[in-house]
Amino acid sequence: MNALPTDPAVESRAGLLAVDADHLWHPWSPSRVSPDTVVAVSGRGCEVWDADGRRYLDAKSSGLNATLGYGCRPVIDAVNAQLSRLMTYDMGEGANVPAIRLARRVAELTGPPLTRTFFCNSGSEAMETCIRIARFYHAVLGAPRRHLVVSFENAYHGATMAAAACSAGSSPVAKEVTPAGFVTLPRPGRAADGAGALRDFLARHGDRTAAVLVEPVQSRGGHLLPDASLRAVRELCDRHGALLVLDEVTTGFGRTGRMFGYQHSGVRPDLLATSKGLTAGYMSLAAVTTTEHVFDVFDANKTKAGFVHGHTHSGHAAACAAGLAVLDVVESEGLVANAEARGAQLLAALEETRPLPYVRDVRGRGLLVSLELDGSRRAARVRAHMKDGGVLVRRTGPNVLVAPPLIVTRDETERIATALLAAVSATA
Ligand code: PLP
Repeated sequence: MNALPTDPAVESRAGLLAVDADHLWHPWSPSRVSPDTVVAVSGRGCEVWDADGRRYLDAKSSGLNATLGYGCRPVIDAVNAQLSRLMTYDMGEGANVPAIRLARRVAELTGPPLTRTFFCNSGSEAMETCIRIARFYHAVLGAPRRHLVVSFENAYHGATMAAAACSAGSSPVAKEVTPAGFVTLPRPGRAADGAGALRDFLARHGDRTAAVLVEPVQSRGGHLLPDASLRAVRELCDRHGALLVLDEVTTGFGRTGRMFGYQHSGVRPDLLATSKGLTAGYMSLAAVTTTEHVFDVFDANKTKAGFVHGHTHSGHAAACAAGLAVLDVVESEGLVANAEARGAQLLAALEETRPLPYVRDVRGRGLLVSLELDGSRRAARVRAHMKDGGVLVRRTGPNVLVAPPLIVTRDETERIATALLAAVSATA
């Protein structure tokens, strides 16, 4: 066994990786990390430094969550101040000031009818919460048979049990652990009637369906849901009495060039899940924002004990303080507009790759841009080539996903596009 991290000998990159190999179990990776894994030690703006001093332009915002980049002073100061004053206070028993203020702030951004926010800690928990709210909602209304939860192929809604069951297409293992009551349908297509599979399903099982889950832009699947399809999904949910859950864990708070992804289509959900852009990676927080109508159904049924659900860290005060400071920065620095402009710059530059025989598609919205290639191996080579050139991007299946922090500059965007074009041609 290697030395523990208190030993100064492990502070070299090789030493850290050796300890990592003995003690750390990484999510979403083979059991052991590879020798070229980035061991990040510091960050500033859109850049991170590896333990060996190498510097990278992080065009994937860590896990798509570092929307303000690294070292954002106003957020760090707000978190530190809140930690010194009161780090947390149980929301089941009481409340705390940042949680109250952040709930109001989110309601100001979403606008009516989305006025009510339940806080949790991760995107998966937010989706789990949406699913539980939807099933409880129908049960409280006297329709416990309505338990089916519908999601679409290539969706990713999280890694907890129910959220993973709604992401069944994303992993072969996930299928094996899927509990009953979860249905995966083909993704709505580009045409206005692209929700055909959902229409057929609801025609047969509408009276048993609790909720339909959609990502306006798929973060892992890399697909964009056309606005017309989203409107058709909304209309079908209304017709059959199912709740529409929009998973904006990645797209919420500016990523797509609008504050929320749904604002491109004008479709409003019954339940809105957000997380990454809410605290920009400075603390762990997620939110489920819903309508007064859904809340009232629970509120009117106090005798049935309301919504029996929550987490120790629901509405953590320092995390909510981070959220308030993040939203201040997003608004005062015009980062939603920057996401739109830099995203358009990136997409325009990548259009050059479209005629290449091994490029299947170039698509995106704001700073969530995907280049789909003819296979996972080529996408992996593109990612590796870019890393060698000092630019970090994400790969999911055949897609190279580019999602830099919303603070990315014009020059940095050009650097990302140049690196990507070079990497794509290098695989010819
Ligand atoms: N939903 C979407 C659209 C996501 O992109 C993610 C995470 O990548 C999740 C849910 C799950 O969030 P978390 O990883 O915070 O549990």
